[in-house]
Amino acid sequence: MGAVDHPAPSTLREAFYRHVAQTSLLPPGLVFSHAEGCELIDPDGRRYLDLISGISVSSLGHGHPRIREAIHRQTDRFLHVMVYGEFILSPQVELASELASLLPASLGSCYFTNSGSEAVEGALKLAKRATGRTELISFERSYHGSTHGALSVGGAEWQKRAFRPLLPDVRQLPFNDPVALSNISERTAAVILEPIQAEAGVRVPDPGYLQAVRKRCDETGALLLLDEIQTGMGRTGTLFRFEAEGILPDVLIVGKAFGAGMPLAAFLASPQLMRTLAHDPVLGHITTFGGHPLSCAAALAGLRVLRDEALHLRARIAGEQFMKRLKHSRILQIRGEGLLLALDLGSETLVQRLIPELAAHGIITDWFLFAPDCLRIAPPLILDESSIERACTTILDCLDAL
Ligand code: PMP
Repeated sequence: MGAVDHPAPSTLREAFYRHVAQTSLLPPGLVFSHAEGCELIDPDGRRYLDLISGISVSSLGHGHPRIREAIHRQTDRFLHVMVYGEFILSPQVELASELASLLPASLGSCYFTNSGSEAVEGALKLAKRATGRTELISFERSYHGSTHGALSVGGAEWQKRAFRPLLPDVRQLPFNDPVALSNISERTAAVILEPIQAEAGVRVPDPGYLQAVRKRCDETGALLLLDEIQTGMGRTGTLFRFEAEGILPDVLIVGKAFGAGMPLAAFLASPQLMRTLAHDPVLGHITTFGGHPLSCAAALAGLRVLRDEALHLRARIAGEQFMKRLKHSRILQIRGEGLLLALDLGSETLVQRLIPELAAHGIITDWFLFAPDCLRIAPPLILDESSIERACTTILDCLDAL
Protein backbone atom coordinates (compact mmCIF):
# COMPACT_ATOMS: atom_id res chain seq x y z
CA MET A 1 0.00 0.00 0.00
CA GLY A 2 1.43 3.42 -0.93
CA ALA A 3 1.32 6.60 1.13
CA VAL A 4 -1.44 8.09 -1.06
CA ASP A 5 -4.15 5.51 -0.27
CA HIS A 6 -3.52 5.55 3.47
CA PRO A 7 -6.20 7.05 5.77
CA ALA A 8 -5.30 10.39 7.36
CA PRO A 9 -3.21 9.82 10.52
CA SER A 10 -5.32 12.26 12.57
CA THR A 11 -8.54 10.35 11.79
CA LEU A 12 -6.87 7.04 12.53
CA ARG A 13 -5.39 8.29 15.79
CA GLU A 14 -8.73 9.49 17.11
CA ALA A 15 -10.45 6.16 16.27
CA PHE A 16 -7.49 4.22 17.71
CA TYR A 17 -7.85 5.84 21.13
CA ARG A 18 -11.63 5.53 21.05
CA HIS A 19 -12.18 2.03 19.66
CA VAL A 20 -9.01 -0.04 19.94
CA ALA A 21 -8.57 -1.31 23.50
CA GLN A 22 -5.46 0.15 25.10
CA THR A 23 -2.94 -1.73 27.17
CA SER A 24 -1.11 1.28 28.53
CA LEU A 25 -2.03 4.86 29.28
CA LEU A 26 0.48 6.40 26.91
CA PRO A 27 1.19 4.22 23.85
CA PRO A 28 3.70 5.78 21.39
CA GLY A 29 0.89 5.95 18.81
CA LEU A 30 3.10 6.08 15.73
CA VAL A 31 1.35 5.49 12.40
CA PHE A 32 3.00 3.56 9.58
CA SER A 33 1.59 3.08 6.12
CA HIS A 34 4.02 0.41 4.97
CA ALA A 35 7.25 -1.35 5.80
CA GLU A 36 10.08 -2.75 3.73
CA GLY A 37 13.35 -4.39 4.66
CA CYS A 38 14.49 -2.91 7.96
CA GLU A 39 12.42 0.25 7.59
CA LEU A 40 8.98 1.38 8.71
CA ILE A 41 7.52 4.18 6.60
CA ASP A 42 4.99 6.72 7.78
CA PRO A 43 2.18 8.18 5.63
CA ASP A 44 4.37 11.22 4.82
CA GLY A 45 7.05 8.93 3.45
CA ARG A 46 9.39 9.35 6.44
CA ARG A 47 11.55 6.29 6.99
CA TYR A 48 12.40 4.81 10.39
CA LEU A 49 14.99 2.13 11.06
CA ASP A 50 13.34 -0.75 12.90
CA LEU A 51 15.57 -1.80 15.80
CA ILE A 52 12.94 -3.95 17.54
CA SER A 53 11.28 -6.10 14.80
CA GLY A 54 7.83 -5.76 16.39
CA ILE A 55 9.37 -7.32 19.53
CA SER A 56 11.57 -10.02 17.99
CA VAL A 57 9.10 -11.01 15.27
CA SER A 58 10.19 -9.57 11.90
CA SER A 59 13.58 -11.27 11.85
CA LEU A 60 13.62 -11.47 8.04
CA GLY A 61 12.76 -7.81 7.74
CA HIS A 62 9.51 -6.55 6.27
CA GLY A 63 8.00 -7.67 2.98
CA HIS A 64 10.55 -10.38 2.17
CA PRO A 65 9.68 -11.51 -1.40
CA ARG A 66 9.82 -15.23 -0.55
CA ILE A 67 7.41 -14.80 2.38
CA ARG A 68 5.00 -12.70 0.31
CA GLU A 69 5.09 -15.25 -2.47
CA ALA A 70 4.40 -18.16 -0.08
CA ILE A 71 1.46 -16.29 1.45
CA HIS A 72 0.00 -15.43 -1.96
CA ARG A 73 0.35 -19.01 -3.18
CA GLN A 74 -1.40 -20.45 -0.13
CA THR A 75 -4.11 -17.75 -0.27
CA ASP A 76 -5.02 -19.04 -3.72
CA ARG A 77 -5.23 -22.66 -2.48
CA PHE A 78 -7.17 -22.58 0.80
CA LEU A 79 -7.37 -20.74 4.10
CA HIS A 80 -9.27 -22.39 6.96
CA VAL A 81 -10.81 -25.76 6.18
CA MET A 82 -10.91 -27.58 9.53
CA VAL A 83 -9.96 -27.15 13.20
CA TYR A 84 -6.43 -28.15 14.16
CA GLY A 85 -5.33 -31.77 13.99
CA GLU A 86 -8.19 -33.38 12.07
CA PHE A 87 -7.42 -33.02 8.35
CA ILE A 88 -4.02 -33.48 6.76
CA LEU A 89 -3.03 -29.96 5.72
CA SER A 90 0.06 -29.78 3.52
CA PRO A 91 1.42 -26.46 4.91
CA GLN A 92 1.38 -27.90 8.46
CA VAL A 93 2.87 -31.23 7.43
CA GLU A 94 5.64 -29.63 5.37
CA LEU A 95 6.55 -27.20 8.14
CA ALA A 96 6.53 -29.87 10.85
CA SER A 97 8.70 -32.13 8.65
CA GLU A 98 11.17 -29.33 7.92
CA LEU A 99 11.44 -28.57 11.64
CA ALA A 100 11.90 -32.25 12.43
CA SER A 101 14.79 -32.36 9.94
CA LEU A 102 16.52 -29.58 11.90
CA LEU A 103 15.90 -31.01 15.38
CA PRO A 104 16.71 -34.23 17.23
CA ALA A 105 14.12 -37.02 17.13
CA SER A 106 13.14 -36.24 20.73
CA LEU A 107 11.61 -32.97 19.43
CA GLY A 108 10.12 -34.57 16.34
CA SER A 109 6.44 -33.84 17.00
CA CYS A 110 5.05 -30.34 16.66
CA TYR A 111 1.81 -28.92 18.08
CA PHE A 112 0.93 -25.65 16.32
CA THR A 113 -0.81 -22.80 18.14
CA ASN A 114 -1.75 -19.20 17.38
CA SER A 115 0.36 -17.45 19.98
CA GLY A 116 3.26 -17.95 22.34
CA SER A 117 0.99 -17.88 25.37
CA GLU A 118 -1.18 -20.60 23.90
CA ALA A 119 1.89 -22.75 23.21
CA VAL A 120 3.01 -22.27 26.84
CA GLU A 121 -0.45 -23.34 28.02
CA GLY A 122 -0.26 -26.49 25.91
CA ALA A 123 3.27 -27.30 27.09
CA LEU A 124 2.32 -26.93 30.77
CA LYS A 125 -0.73 -29.15 30.29
CA LEU A 126 1.37 -31.73 28.46
CA ALA A 127 3.84 -31.85 31.36
CA LYS A 128 1.08 -32.31 33.94
CA ARG A 129 -0.65 -34.96 31.86
CA ALA A 130 2.54 -36.88 31.06
CA THR A 131 4.04 -36.87 34.58
CA GLY A 132 0.81 -37.05 36.60
CA ARG A 133 2.36 -34.36 38.81
CA THR A 134 1.11 -30.87 39.52
CA GLU A 135 3.97 -28.61 40.62
CA LEU A 136 5.26 -26.10 38.08
CA ILE A 137 8.58 -24.37 38.64
CA SER A 138 9.58 -21.17 36.92
CA PHE A 139 11.94 -18.27 37.52
CA GLU A 140 11.83 -14.74 38.86
CA ARG A 141 11.55 -12.06 36.14
CA SER A 142 10.60 -14.57 33.46
CA TYR A 143 7.87 -13.80 30.92
CA HIS A 144 5.86 -16.60 29.36
CA GLY A 145 2.67 -14.86 28.26
CA SER A 146 -0.50 -13.21 29.40
CA THR A 147 -3.14 -15.95 29.62
CA HIS A 148 -3.93 -17.33 33.10
CA GLY A 149 -1.62 -20.36 32.97
CA ALA A 150 1.26 -18.53 31.29
CA LEU A 151 0.85 -15.61 33.69
CA SER A 152 0.91 -18.02 36.63
CA VAL A 153 4.44 -19.09 35.73
CA GLY A 154 5.51 -15.52 34.95
CA GLY A 155 8.09 -14.03 37.25
CA ALA A 156 6.68 -10.61 38.18
CA GLU A 157 4.33 -10.39 41.13
CA TRP A 158 3.23 -6.83 40.23
CA GLN A 159 1.83 -8.21 36.99
CA LYS A 160 0.00 -11.10 38.66
CA ARG A 161 -1.41 -9.61 41.87
CA ALA A 162 -4.63 -8.19 40.42
CA PHE A 163 -5.52 -11.47 38.73
CA ARG A 164 -5.10 -13.92 41.59
CA PRO A 165 -6.07 -16.64 42.24
CA LEU A 166 -3.95 -18.02 39.43
CA LEU A 167 -2.75 -21.63 38.96
CA PRO A 168 -2.00 -23.42 42.25
CA ASP A 169 1.26 -25.26 42.96
CA VAL A 170 3.51 -22.85 41.10
CA ARG A 171 6.88 -22.03 42.55
CA GLN A 172 9.36 -19.37 41.46
CA LEU A 173 13.11 -19.74 41.89
CA PRO A 174 15.82 -17.10 41.46
CA PHE A 175 17.24 -17.30 37.93
CA ASN A 176 20.87 -18.28 37.43
CA ASP A 177 21.22 -19.60 40.99
CA PRO A 178 22.36 -23.24 40.87
CA VAL A 179 21.82 -23.75 44.62
CA ALA A 180 18.08 -22.99 44.30
CA LEU A 181 17.71 -25.87 41.82
CA SER A 182 17.48 -28.28 44.77
CA ASN A 183 13.85 -27.09 45.05
CA ILE A 184 13.05 -29.09 41.93
CA SER A 185 11.78 -32.42 43.25
CA GLU A 186 9.88 -35.63 42.46
CA ARG A 187 6.70 -33.53 42.84
CA THR A 188 7.68 -31.25 39.96
CA ALA A 189 5.86 -31.77 36.66
CA ALA A 190 7.71 -29.10 34.72
CA VAL A 191 10.48 -26.58 34.95
CA ILE A 192 9.87 -23.78 32.47
CA LEU A 193 12.48 -21.21 31.58
CA GLU A 194 13.87 -18.95 28.90
CA PRO A 195 17.47 -19.86 28.02
CA ILE A 196 18.12 -16.11 28.01
CA GLN A 197 15.60 -14.06 29.97
CA ALA A 198 14.48 -11.49 27.41
CA GLU A 199 12.01 -9.22 29.19
CA ALA A 200 14.18 -9.15 32.30
CA GLY A 201 16.56 -7.02 30.23
CA VAL A 202 18.34 -9.84 28.36
CA ARG A 203 19.83 -11.85 31.23
CA VAL A 204 22.24 -14.48 29.94
CA PRO A 205 22.81 -17.25 32.52
CA ASP A 206 26.32 -18.25 33.56
CA PRO A 207 27.98 -21.06 31.61
CA GLY A 208 26.91 -24.41 33.03
CA TYR A 209 23.68 -23.13 34.60
CA LEU A 210 21.34 -24.56 31.96
CA GLN A 211 23.21 -27.87 32.12
CA ALA A 212 22.62 -27.87 35.88
CA VAL A 213 18.88 -27.31 35.31
CA ARG A 214 18.84 -30.18 32.81
CA LYS A 215 20.67 -32.44 35.28
CA ARG A 216 18.27 -31.67 38.13
CA CYS A 217 15.29 -32.37 35.85
CA ASP A 218 16.84 -35.72 34.90
CA GLU A 219 17.38 -36.60 38.56
CA THR A 220 13.77 -35.84 39.52
CA GLY A 221 11.85 -36.78 36.37
CA ALA A 222 10.59 -33.22 35.93
CA LEU A 223 10.18 -32.17 32.31
CA LEU A 224 12.31 -29.30 31.06
CA LEU A 225 10.30 -26.80 29.01
CA LEU A 226 12.45 -24.26 27.19
CA ASP A 227 10.66 -21.09 26.12
CA GLU A 228 12.56 -20.04 22.99
CA ILE A 229 9.79 -17.73 21.82
CA GLN A 230 12.20 -14.80 21.81
CA THR A 231 15.60 -16.50 21.64
CA GLY A 232 14.75 -18.93 18.83
CA MET A 233 14.86 -18.70 15.04
CA GLY A 234 18.46 -17.59 14.82
CA ARG A 235 18.21 -14.43 16.89
CA THR A 236 20.93 -15.32 19.39
CA GLY A 237 23.36 -16.79 16.85
CA THR A 238 22.17 -20.41 16.62
CA LEU A 239 18.81 -21.60 15.30
CA PHE A 240 17.79 -22.25 18.93
CA ARG A 241 19.67 -21.04 21.97
CA PHE A 242 19.78 -24.50 23.59
CA GLU A 243 22.17 -25.63 20.82
CA ALA A 244 24.85 -23.33 22.23
CA GLU A 245 24.52 -25.00 25.64
CA GLY A 246 24.73 -28.61 24.53
CA ILE A 247 21.47 -29.54 26.24
CA LEU A 248 18.09 -30.69 24.98
CA PRO A 249 14.72 -29.70 26.41
CA ASP A 250 11.88 -32.18 26.77
CA VAL A 251 9.58 -29.57 25.29
CA LEU A 252 10.68 -26.70 23.05
CA ILE A 253 8.38 -23.68 22.78
CA VAL A 254 8.67 -21.37 19.78
CA GLY A 255 6.73 -18.35 18.56
CA LYS A 256 7.22 -14.74 17.45
CA ALA A 257 9.69 -14.92 14.48
CA PHE A 258 8.60 -18.52 13.86
CA GLY A 259 5.62 -17.30 11.79
CA ALA A 260 7.78 -14.96 9.65
CA GLY A 261 5.36 -12.14 10.38
CA MET A 262 2.22 -14.26 10.59
CA PRO A 263 0.65 -15.37 13.90
CA LEU A 264 2.09 -18.78 14.74
CA ALA A 265 3.71 -20.57 17.66
CA ALA A 266 4.28 -24.19 18.61
CA PHE A 267 5.47 -26.58 21.26
CA LEU A 268 7.58 -29.54 20.20
CA ALA A 269 8.28 -32.79 22.00
CA SER A 270 8.84 -36.46 21.22
CA PRO A 271 6.01 -38.26 19.40
CA GLN A 272 5.54 -40.54 22.45
CA LEU A 273 5.19 -37.63 24.86
CA MET A 274 2.91 -35.70 22.53
CA ARG A 275 0.64 -38.73 22.09
CA THR A 276 -0.52 -38.36 25.70
CA LEU A 277 -2.60 -35.37 24.60
CA ALA A 278 -4.70 -37.65 22.38
CA HIS A 279 -6.17 -39.84 25.13
CA ASP A 280 -7.32 -39.61 28.78
CA PRO A 281 -8.85 -37.23 27.91
CA VAL A 282 -9.18 -37.38 24.16
CA LEU A 283 -8.61 -33.92 22.62
CA GLY A 284 -6.35 -33.02 25.55
CA HIS A 285 -5.50 -29.69 23.97
CA ILE A 286 -7.46 -28.24 21.09
CA THR A 287 -7.50 -25.07 19.02
CA THR A 288 -9.50 -23.86 16.05
CA PHE A 289 -6.93 -21.76 14.23
CA GLY A 290 -3.62 -23.11 15.57
CA GLY A 291 -1.30 -23.84 12.63
CA HIS A 292 -3.33 -21.78 10.18
CA PRO A 293 -2.34 -22.73 6.62
CA LEU A 294 -1.28 -19.17 5.75
CA SER A 295 0.88 -18.91 8.85
CA CYS A 296 2.47 -22.30 8.21
CA ALA A 297 3.18 -21.45 4.56
CA ALA A 298 4.88 -18.22 5.64
CA ALA A 299 6.80 -20.00 8.42
CA LEU A 300 8.10 -22.68 6.06
CA ALA A 301 9.34 -20.04 3.62
CA GLY A 302 10.83 -18.14 6.57
CA LEU A 303 12.68 -21.16 7.86
CA ARG A 304 14.16 -21.73 4.42
CA VAL A 305 15.26 -18.10 4.08
CA LEU A 306 16.87 -18.32 7.52
CA ARG A 307 18.74 -21.44 6.46
CA ASP A 308 19.68 -20.34 2.90
CA GLU A 309 20.94 -16.94 4.06
CA ALA A 310 22.50 -18.32 7.29
CA LEU A 311 20.92 -15.45 9.17
CA HIS A 312 21.90 -16.88 12.56
CA LEU A 313 25.53 -16.20 11.60
CA ARG A 314 24.60 -12.74 10.39
CA ALA A 315 22.97 -12.12 13.81
CA ARG A 316 26.21 -13.06 15.55
CA ILE A 317 28.33 -10.66 13.49
CA ALA A 318 25.78 -7.85 13.70
CA GLY A 319 25.52 -8.25 17.48
CA GLU A 320 29.28 -7.89 17.81
CA GLN A 321 29.18 -4.75 15.67
CA PHE A 322 26.61 -3.17 17.99
CA MET A 323 28.64 -4.19 21.05
CA LYS A 324 31.83 -2.71 19.60
CA ARG A 325 30.32 0.60 18.56
CA LEU A 326 28.02 1.33 21.49
CA LYS A 327 30.49 2.77 23.99
CA HIS A 328 29.36 5.76 26.04
CA SER A 329 29.75 6.93 29.62
CA ARG A 330 25.97 6.63 30.14
CA ILE A 331 25.83 3.01 28.93
CA LEU A 332 26.49 0.88 32.01
CA GLN A 333 26.52 -2.42 30.15
CA ILE A 334 25.39 -4.08 26.92
CA ARG A 335 23.98 -7.55 27.56
CA GLY A 336 22.94 -10.24 25.17
CA GLU A 337 23.88 -12.50 22.32
CA GLY A 338 23.43 -12.06 18.59
CA LEU A 339 20.68 -9.54 17.95
CA LEU A 340 18.93 -9.83 21.30
CA LEU A 341 20.58 -6.96 23.13
CA ALA A 342 19.86 -4.73 26.11
CA LEU A 343 21.57 -1.40 26.54
CA ASP A 344 21.59 -0.96 30.30
CA LEU A 345 21.35 2.77 31.02
CA GLY A 346 20.51 2.29 34.69
CA SER A 347 17.78 4.94 34.49
CA GLU A 348 14.16 4.53 33.51
CA THR A 349 13.85 8.29 33.07
CA LEU A 350 16.71 8.37 30.60
CA VAL A 351 15.23 5.44 28.62
CA GLN A 352 11.83 7.14 28.53
CA ARG A 353 13.43 10.32 27.13
CA LEU A 354 15.71 8.47 24.73
CA ILE A 355 13.02 6.41 22.96
CA PRO A 356 11.03 9.40 21.58
CA GLU A 357 14.26 11.28 20.85
CA LEU A 358 15.49 8.36 18.78
CA ALA A 359 12.11 8.13 17.02
CA ALA A 360 12.44 11.83 16.15
CA HIS A 361 15.78 10.91 14.55
CA GLY A 362 14.25 8.01 12.59
CA ILE A 363 15.16 5.09 14.89
CA ILE A 364 12.58 2.83 16.51
CA THR A 365 13.55 1.27 19.85
CA ASP A 366 11.76 0.21 23.01
CA TRP A 367 12.27 -0.76 26.65
CA PHE A 368 11.72 -4.13 28.38
CA LEU A 369 8.74 -5.24 30.41
CA PHE A 370 10.80 -6.02 33.52
CA ALA A 371 13.75 -3.75 32.79
CA PRO A 372 12.45 -0.25 32.02
CA ASP A 373 15.96 1.13 32.56
CA CYS A 374 17.26 -0.76 29.52
CA LEU A 375 16.92 0.01 25.81
CA ARG A 376 15.87 -2.86 23.55
CA ILE A 377 17.93 -3.62 20.44
CA ALA A 378 16.47 -6.56 18.52
CA PRO A 379 16.44 -5.56 14.84
CA PRO A 380 15.72 -7.78 11.84
CA LEU A 381 18.61 -10.21 11.35
CA ILE A 382 19.17 -8.82 7.84
CA LEU A 383 20.27 -5.39 9.12
CA ASP A 384 23.35 -4.32 7.14
CA GLU A 385 26.54 -2.78 8.45
CA SER A 386 25.83 0.78 7.28
CA SER A 387 22.45 0.71 9.06
CA ILE A 388 24.15 -0.54 12.23
CA GLU A 389 26.63 2.31 11.91
CA ARG A 390 23.81 4.83 11.49
CA ALA A 391 21.82 3.37 14.41
CA CYS A 392 24.84 3.44 16.75
CA THR A 393 25.89 6.97 15.77
CA THR A 394 22.35 8.22 16.35
CA ILE A 395 22.07 6.48 19.73
CA LEU A 396 25.41 7.92 20.86
CA ASP A 397 24.52 11.42 19.58
CA CYS A 398 21.15 11.34 21.34
CA LEU A 399 22.81 10.16 24.57
CA ASP A 400 25.20 13.13 24.29
CA ALA A 401 22.32 15.53 23.73
CA LEU A 402 20.02 14.36 26.55
N1 PMP B 1 7.42 -16.16 26.11
C1 PMP B 1 8.31 -15.20 25.82
C2 PMP B 1 9.75 -15.40 26.16
C3 PMP B 1 7.90 -14.00 25.21
O1 PMP B 1 8.79 -13.03 24.93
C4 PMP B 1 6.53 -13.84 24.88
C5 PMP B 1 6.01 -12.58 24.24
N2 PMP B 1 6.67 -11.42 24.56
C6 PMP B 1 5.63 -14.88 25.19
C7 PMP B 1 6.12 -16.02 25.79
C8 PMP B 1 4.17 -14.78 24.88
O2 PMP B 1 3.95 -14.81 23.51
P1 PMP B 1 2.60 -14.21 22.88
O3 PMP B 1 2.62 -12.73 23.11
O4 PMP B 1 2.68 -14.58 21.42
O5 PMP B 1 1.46 -14.87 23.56
